[in-house]
Amino acid sequence: MKVIIGTRRYHSTACPLIRGAGETGVETMTLASAEAAGLTSCSVCQHERETVG
Ligand SMILES: [Zn+2]
Repeated sequence: MKVIIGTRRYHSTACPLIRGAGETGVETMTLASAEAAGLTSCSVCQHERETVG
């Protein structure tokens, strides 16, 4: 999963929001870690869930 630093949403690697954020503003973590941190799925890319992130 990809998380834009400073936000509370996780994204698939293919999410256009992640692509727009660039490399430096994005953190990579597993889905389990994202959910454990209380993050919620992005409404744009949630239909493109990945099993490994
Ligand atoms: Zn997204």
